Amino acid sequence: MLSPRQTLPSSVTVDISDQEFSIRWADGHATTFPLDGLRKACPCANCQGHGAKKLPDPSIFDEAPRRRWEEVRAEKAGSVGVRITWDDGHDTGIYSWERLRRTCPCAECRKQHANP
Ligand SMILES: [Zn+2]
Ligand SMILES: [Zn+2]
Repeated sequence: MLSPRQTLPSSVTVDISDQEFSIRWADGHATTFPLDGLRKACPCANCQGHGAKKLPDPSIFDEAPRRRWEEVRAEKAGSVGVRITWDDGHDTGIYSWERLRRTCPCAECRKQHANP
Protein backbone atom coordinates (compact mmCIF):
# COMPACT_ATOMS: atom_id res chain seq x y z
CA MET A 1 0.00 0.00 0.00
CA LEU A 2 1.15 3.51 -0.72
CA SER A 3 1.11 5.98 2.15
CA PRO A 4 -0.69 9.32 1.64
CA ARG A 5 2.66 11.12 1.46
CA GLN A 6 3.73 8.85 -1.39
CA THR A 7 0.84 10.02 -3.55
CA LEU A 8 0.93 13.71 -2.58
CA PRO A 9 2.92 15.80 -5.05
CA SER A 10 4.91 18.73 -3.73
CA SER A 11 5.88 19.94 -7.19
CA VAL A 12 5.22 19.08 -10.82
CA THR A 13 7.50 20.25 -13.62
CA VAL A 14 7.24 19.99 -17.39
CA ASP A 15 10.63 20.44 -19.01
CA ILE A 16 10.24 20.82 -22.77
CA SER A 17 13.97 21.14 -23.49
CA ASP A 18 14.73 17.84 -21.73
CA GLN A 19 11.37 16.30 -22.77
CA GLU A 20 10.66 15.31 -19.18
CA PHE A 21 7.76 15.40 -16.78
CA SER A 22 8.90 15.38 -13.18
CA ILE A 23 7.10 15.04 -9.90
CA ARG A 24 8.56 15.55 -6.47
CA TRP A 25 6.52 13.80 -3.82
CA ALA A 26 5.81 14.78 -0.22
CA ASP A 27 7.92 11.84 1.01
CA GLY A 28 10.94 13.26 -0.85
CA HIS A 29 10.93 10.76 -3.74
CA ALA A 30 11.40 12.13 -7.26
CA THR A 31 9.79 10.65 -10.37
CA THR A 32 10.75 11.56 -13.93
CA PHE A 33 8.88 10.40 -17.00
CA PRO A 34 9.94 10.94 -20.59
CA LEU A 35 7.15 13.00 -22.18
CA ASP A 36 6.56 10.63 -25.07
CA GLY A 37 6.35 7.63 -22.74
CA LEU A 38 3.86 9.48 -20.59
CA ARG A 39 1.78 10.30 -23.66
CA LYS A 40 1.76 6.59 -24.57
CA ALA A 41 0.73 5.78 -21.01
CA CYS A 42 -2.30 8.13 -21.22
CA PRO A 43 -4.87 6.47 -18.99
CA CYS A 44 -7.99 7.63 -20.85
CA ALA A 45 -10.38 5.11 -22.36
CA ASN A 46 -9.54 6.27 -25.90
CA CYS A 47 -5.88 5.45 -25.47
CA GLN A 48 -6.11 2.38 -23.27
CA GLY A 49 -9.50 0.97 -24.26
CA HIS A 50 -10.68 -1.68 -21.85
CA GLY A 51 -7.26 -1.78 -20.27
CA ALA A 52 -7.71 1.75 -18.87
CA LYS A 53 -7.54 0.53 -15.29
CA LYS A 54 -4.37 -1.47 -15.85
CA LEU A 55 -0.97 0.06 -15.23
CA PRO A 56 1.28 0.50 -18.26
CA ASP A 57 4.28 -1.74 -18.71
CA PRO A 58 7.25 0.29 -17.39
CA SER A 59 9.27 -0.67 -20.47
CA ILE A 60 7.31 1.90 -22.52
CA PHE A 61 9.34 4.56 -20.69
CA ASP A 62 12.55 3.06 -22.14
CA GLU A 63 11.39 3.23 -25.74
CA ALA A 64 12.87 5.85 -28.03
CA PRO A 65 10.50 8.82 -28.34
CA ARG A 66 8.42 8.90 -31.51
CA ARG A 67 8.54 12.68 -31.63
CA ARG A 68 9.26 15.79 -29.61
CA TRP A 69 6.45 17.42 -27.69
CA GLU A 70 6.63 21.19 -27.96
CA GLU A 71 3.71 22.18 -25.79
CA VAL A 72 2.56 20.20 -22.81
CA ARG A 73 0.28 21.67 -20.20
CA ALA A 74 -0.32 20.10 -16.81
CA GLU A 75 -3.27 21.24 -14.70
CA LYS A 76 -4.41 19.89 -11.37
CA ALA A 77 -7.54 17.79 -11.63
CA GLY A 78 -8.77 18.34 -8.08
CA SER A 79 -6.86 16.29 -5.57
CA VAL A 80 -7.06 13.20 -7.77
CA GLY A 81 -4.30 13.88 -10.22
CA VAL A 82 -3.22 15.95 -13.17
CA ARG A 83 -4.82 16.55 -16.54
CA ILE A 84 -2.26 16.82 -19.31
CA THR A 85 -2.92 18.66 -22.57
CA TRP A 86 -0.63 17.57 -25.39
CA ASP A 87 0.20 19.53 -28.51
CA ASP A 88 -1.58 16.93 -30.65
CA GLY A 89 -4.78 18.28 -29.08
CA HIS A 90 -5.29 15.33 -26.75
CA ASP A 91 -6.49 16.35 -23.29
CA THR A 92 -8.77 13.63 -21.95
CA GLY A 93 -6.14 11.87 -19.90
CA ILE A 94 -6.30 12.43 -16.16
CA TYR A 95 -3.26 10.84 -14.62
CA SER A 96 -4.02 10.04 -11.00
CA TRP A 97 -1.23 10.66 -8.51
CA GLU A 98 -1.48 7.08 -7.38
CA ARG A 99 -1.10 5.77 -10.92
CA LEU A 100 1.87 8.06 -11.54
CA ARG A 101 3.56 6.95 -8.35
CA ARG A 102 2.85 3.29 -9.12
CA THR A 103 4.41 3.63 -12.56
CA CYS A 104 7.50 5.58 -11.43
CA PRO A 105 10.19 4.28 -13.81
CA CYS A 106 13.16 4.78 -11.45
CA ALA A 107 15.27 1.73 -10.65
CA GLU A 108 14.24 1.63 -7.01
CA CYS A 109 10.51 1.65 -7.75
CA ARG A 110 10.82 -0.88 -10.57
CA LYS A 111 12.17 -3.37 -8.08
CA GLN A 112 9.09 -2.79 -5.96
CA HIS A 113 6.73 -3.00 -8.96
CA ALA A 114 8.27 -6.38 -9.74
CA ASN A 115 7.88 -7.64 -6.15
CA PRO A 116 4.86 -5.84 -4.72
ZN1 LIG B 1 -5.67 9.38 -23.87
ZN1 LIG C 1 10.66 5.91 -8.15
